[in-house]
Amino acid sequence: MTSYNLNTSITYLKGTGPSRADLLKKELGIRTFGDLINFFPRRYIDRTQFFKINQLQQNSSEIQIVGKITAIKTVQQKRGSRLVATFKDDTGIMELVWFRGAKWIKESLKINTPYVIFGKTNFFGNSFSMPHPEMELVSEYKRNLRGSMQPIYASTELLTNKGVSNRVIQKMMQSLFEQIGRNFKETLSKDILTKYELLPKSESLFNIHFPKNQELLTQAQQRLKFEELFFIQLQLIRKKLIRKSKIKGYTFLKVGTYFNSFYKNNLPFELTNAQKRVLKEIRKDIGSNAQMNRLLQGDVGSGKTIVALMSMLIAIDNGFQAAIMAPTEILATQHYNSVKELLNGMDVNVRLLTGSVKTKERRIIHEELESGELHILIGTHALIEDKVKFKNLGIAIIDEQHRFGVEQRSKLWRKNELPPHILVMTATPIPRTLAMSVYGDLDISVIDELPPGRKEIATAHRYDSNRLSVFKFMKEEIAKGKQVYVVYPLIKESEKMDYKDLMDGYESISREFPKPAYQVSIVHGKMKAEDKEYEMNRFLKKETQIMVATTVIEVGVNIPNASVMVIESAERFGLSQLHQLRGRVGRGADQSYCILMTSHKLSANAKTRLETMVKTSDGFEIADVDLKLRGPGNIMGKQQSGVLNLKIADVVSDTHILKNARETAFEVLQKDPSLKLPENTMLLQAYKNLHKNGEIWSNIS
Ligand code: ADP
Ligand code: MG
Repeated sequence: MTSYNLNTSITYLKGTGPSRADLLKKELGIRTFGDLINFFPRRYIDRTQFFKINQLQQNSSEIQIVGKITAIKTVQQKRGSRLVATFKDDTGIMELVWFRGAKWIKESLKINTPYVIFGKTNFFGNSFSMPHPEMELVSEYKRNLRGSMQPIYASTELLTNKGVSNRVIQKMMQSLFEQIGRNFKETLSKDILTKYELLPKSESLFNIHFPKNQELLTQAQQRLKFEELFFIQLQLIRKKLIRKSKIKGYTFLKVGTYFNSFYKNNLPFELTNAQKRVLKEIRKDIGSNAQMNRLLQGDVGSGKTIVALMSMLIAIDNGFQAAIMAPTEILATQHYNSVKELLNGMDVNVRLLTGSVKTKERRIIHEELESGELHILIGTHALIEDKVKFKNLGIAIIDEQHRFGVEQRSKLWRKNELPPHILVMTATPIPRTLAMSVYGDLDISVIDELPPGRKEIATAHRYDSNRLSVFKFMKEEIAKGKQVYVVYPLIKESEKMDYKDLMDGYESISREFPKPAYQVSIVHGKMKAEDKEYEMNRFLKKETQIMVATTVIEVGVNIPNASVMVIESAERFGLSQLHQLRGRVGRGADQSYCILMTSHKLSANAKTRLETMVKTSDGFEIADVDLKLRGPGNIMGKQQSGVLNLKIADVVSDTHILKNARETAFEVLQKDPSLKLPENTMLLQAYKNLHKNGEIWSNIS
C-alpha cells in the first residue's frame, strides 16, 4: 500500500489526473497534498438554510434550493449557444443557465430528479435565473462529507472555465483527508496551546475545510491565524536577535565637542519630548557594539531633521563621517541648506552631492571624503556611485526609505570595516500592526508629537463649481503676504491628459492672478532639474506667490511662508499622498489651509478619503484608514508583499492575534534563541518545514 504524506504530489490524489494537477499548479500554486490542505477557504456560507423559489430576492448572495429540472433547451445566440433548464420546486419556476460547456452539461443533467442547486441568482425580465449553478443530486448531497458551513475557495477564471468548481475543490479536500487520515503533526508547543487555548493542529485543519459548526470554525481560524503570524514573528525576531548579536557596529561612546557645542550654542529651540526620547533611543543603539538599524517614523513637520543631525554629530565626535541620502535633488538641497544653517558658525565640513554637481566640485568631494576631511555628505543617488568612497562612514541617514533598496544602501559602505549605523526616516506613518509584520526585524522610533505652537491645518472639501470663491480666498491670503501651492495629479497612466490639465490650470491661474501684481511659478517632472530648482528657489525667496506643481513637491519641501495648499482633482490622490501634500503647509506659526478640489462625481472610496482628510490630521489615524481601504500589499509595495502574503491572517483585523503571536515568539526566543530545548523541537521542525531553504536557522553557531 502506498503511503501518502504532505509532500505527495497531488497527481496521487484520487480523482485528480495530470491535467487537473497541472492546472492547479499553474493557477493556484498547489503541487502537493500539503499545499492543498493549506489552501484555506476564503469564506463560508450557511448551508443549513434552503430557499424556496417564491422567497427569492432580487439581489441574493449564494443560496441553495431543492427542486427538479423539467425541461432543457439550447438557445442560439450571436456567439455560440446557451443552455437553459427549467427548474421547479413546489412554490415556483426559475431558469438555470449555462453559457459554457453546454454540450457536456446537457448530457449530464437528469430530468425530474431531485437536485440541490447552489449559486447566485439573477432577476431578469420578471423571472429568476441562476447562471452556472453548482448541482448535486439530493441522493449524493446526503452522502457527502459536509458541515453546515460551506467553505468557498478562491478560484480563477480558467479554473471555472475548466470545470474546477468550488465543489470539485471540496471533493479533493475530502479525498485528501480520506487518503492521508486526520492526524497531523502538531506544530505549536503544549505551553502555547494551553496559554492561548488553541485548537490542536489536526482539528484545526479539519474544521477549516469541514467546519462542524460555527464555534469550531472560529477556533480553527484563530489557531491557524496565530500559527501563521507566530512563525513570521519568530523569523523576524530571530533576524533581529542575530543582527544584534552578530552584526557588530562601531561603538560611539563619546558625546563630545561637536554635539555639546551644538546643543549649547546652536539648537534654535527646545526639543520636544518625543525628539528627546528618540534621540535617547538612538544614542543607546550607537553606543552599543551592534549596528543600529532603526526606522524613524514621524509625521510631516514633526522635526526629524534635527534628530538626524544630532545623531550625526555624535558620529563626528567619535571621529567618523556621516551621510544623508534623499530621494530627490530638491530634498537633498533642502537638507543641505537646513543643516548648513543649523551648523552656522561651527567647524563642521558639509557638502552636497547630486547629479548636477560639476566635475570640479565633485573631485574635491571625492578627495575630502577619502581623506576624512569631509564630515557630512548630503545627496541623492549620486552618493552610491562607485567613485564615492568614504574614509569611515559611521552613520547613514536615509530619508523616505521606500525609494531606496537594501542593495543600494549597502553600496554606501563598501570601504567600511564595519557597517555604519542606519537611520531610516519616513514621514509616511505606517500602521503599527503593519510595521510589526513588515519591519518586525527593525527597531522603530516614533516622533508622535509636533513642535509646540503649530496650528492644525484647516481642511475643506470644495467642488470645482466653487472655484471662484477659492480664488478669492487665495487672493486674501496672498494679500497677507502668504504663498499658495496648487497641486495637480500626475499619474503615469494618464500622463498626457494630466499635463494638459496642469497647463490649463496654470493658464487659468495666470489669467486670474495677472502680472505684475502676481507672479506664478510652475514646477513639473518634465522640466530640467536646474529649471525646477530655479522655480523652487523663486518661490522660496517669495518672488512668486503661487506655485503650480505636480506632486514633485510631495516629500519634504519646507517653505514655512506657504499657508494654502489647493489640491486639484483630489479624488485621484491616495490618502497618504494627500496627507503628505497637506504637510507642505502649516510649517510656520500662522494658520494654514488645505483645500481639496473635486468634481461632483465621487466614488464611495474617494468620499471616505476626503472625509478622513477633513476630519483628522493624525498621520497614524489616516494610515489606518488607508490600510483598510487599500489593503496591506498596496501600501507596502511589492517587495514587502512576501511577508504580507498571508494565507489566513489579516494584518488589518487580526491585530490582537498578531500582538499575542509576537509576544509569544519573543518569549520563546528569549529563553531559547536557537530552539535547542526539547520542548521547542516541534517549533524548530515546523519552522524548517515552512522555510525549506530558510537560511536563518542554519547560520547560528
Ligand atoms: P520633518 O519631520 O517633516 O522632516 P523638519 O525636521 O523639517 O520636519 O522640521 C519641521 C520644522 O519644525 C522645521 O522648520 C524645524 O526647524 C522645526 N522644528 C523641529 N523641531 C522643533 C522643535 N522642537 N521646536 C520648534 N520647532 C521645531
Ligand atoms: Mg523632512
